[in-house]
Amino acid sequence: HETPDFDPKLKLNEEKVDVMKIYKDKRGDSKEQLHLVVVGHVDAGKSTLLGRLLCELGQVPSRLIHKYQQESKKIGKQSFAYAWVLDETGEERERGITMDVGHSKFETETKSITLLDAPGHKDFIPNMITGATQADVALLVVDATRGEFETGFDSGGQTREHALLLRSLGISQLAVIVNKLDTVDWSKERFDEIVNKMSVFLKQAGFKDNVTFVPCSGLSGENILTKPKEPLSNWYTGPTLVSVIENFKCPERHINKPFRFSINDIFKGTGSGFCVSGHVETGMVSLGDKVLVLPRNETAVIKGLQIDEVSTTNAFAGDHVSLTLSGIDQQNVGIGDIICNPQNPVPVTTRFQAHVVVFAVKIPIMKGLSVIIHQHSLVQPAVITKLVAQLHRHTGEMIKKKPRCLPKNSSAIIEITTQNPVCMELYKDIKELGRIMLRVEGTTIAAGLITKIK
Ligand code: GDP
Repeated sequence: HETPDFDPKLKLNEEKVDVMKIYKDKRGDSKEQLHLVVVGHVDAGKSTLLGRLLCELGQVPSRLIHKYQQESKKIGKQSFAYAWVLDETGEERERGITMDVGHSKFETETKSITLLDAPGHKDFIPNMITGATQADVALLVVDATRGEFETGFDSGGQTREHALLLRSLGISQLAVIVNKLDTVDWSKERFDEIVNKMSVFLKQAGFKDNVTFVPCSGLSGENILTKPKEPLSNWYTGPTLVSVIENFKCPERHINKPFRFSINDIFKGTGSGFCVSGHVETGMVSLGDKVLVLPRNETAVIKGLQIDEVSTTNAFAGDHVSLTLSGIDQQNVGIGDIICNPQNPVPVTTRFQAHVVVFAVKIPIMKGLSVIIHQHSLVQPAVITKLVAQLHRHTGEMIKKKPRCLPKNSSAIIEITTQNPVCMELYKDIKELGRIMLRVEGTTIAAGLITKIK
């Protein structure tokens, strides 16, 4: 299976459309888009840090910040005010204002950043890792507090698992946020200790030397937007959190590839028809387009497009959009389905192969294991039907054909069979749809990239 690279936007019985020209006309001067996921051990301070970041960037009305400060003071937990900022979009959504489930946007000087899997998800804190399947770049937050970094980093902690997950999903741009440095009096020694330990580990996990380490405190706001003051400024002259985000490279948006839209949410719109919100993974879509919903094989017409609650006529790869669909029953659409161009449909299968990294599993993975696969917003029961080969973790060379089992931290090619047909793409064709995670009872046991579709 090969996805053609040529101009995909072939309208039925019409001429080819120059999608790059439309894109340049419409968006030539807009900001670059980046999808960011923030991971780290529970209580590392992710919510506080993100809330603080959104406030400092002016994304949160000051009356709201004030309200949270008052409320948190009342219950004697002043430190919670910033974490609450993230819940606000969830509240708004319940009132039907924001449709953007699990996503929050913010802007820096040059970039428009989508925070993946952030607010609104009840399991935001423990399971932010699901957002990793859609991320371009990642922040890994560690708690600098003595004893806490160690808890997160050593076995049982999530720091290692999260870093491995990012790496196995092909995310190579990473910054480590050494957070809560206020709890160790901004100690350079403590920062260096954490940098050294993490560097060794990240290198083993396959990250290159380009990982940036940023000392900060989400609670005090130090080194987030503005350059730090003393005592941190006595020894740290590196970038702030915001400048690290600014310096991430935006991946190329594949506007010239076939149209693929992954459905994250389905809801009743204001007029006729209904709406689906999700992500344009590749290609573009326009008002009036006839589209195909797979794997259910239903057709529909795009009756409306909204980006950030503003109606528009086109959406491009990288956009998070709400589409109003007509000519289709709401019951025939599901979260995790893919909307595509009928002339260039996404492959549908029940069997595929993936190159995976096995996490710190207690019991080695055997053929026949039942798992839940996560691929963008799709969640689907499946079985590992073949262990094709075990590979060397770093070089990727084959160690053993048809191994009997896969021990923890191993790397392998496996065959997976899903209960129902699913839409799949090879990682090399469309990376956004070519990444999967395998979970058993809420724990990630492996993650990787789709290499073959049967
Ligand atoms: P999450 O589970 O990673 O989202 O962590 P939270 O943001 O909920 O923070 C966990 C706890 O750490 C809360 O009690 C916060 O008030 C506290 N905390 C968060 N950031 C900081 C920080 O920079 N310094 C200190 N001292 N405490 C923090």
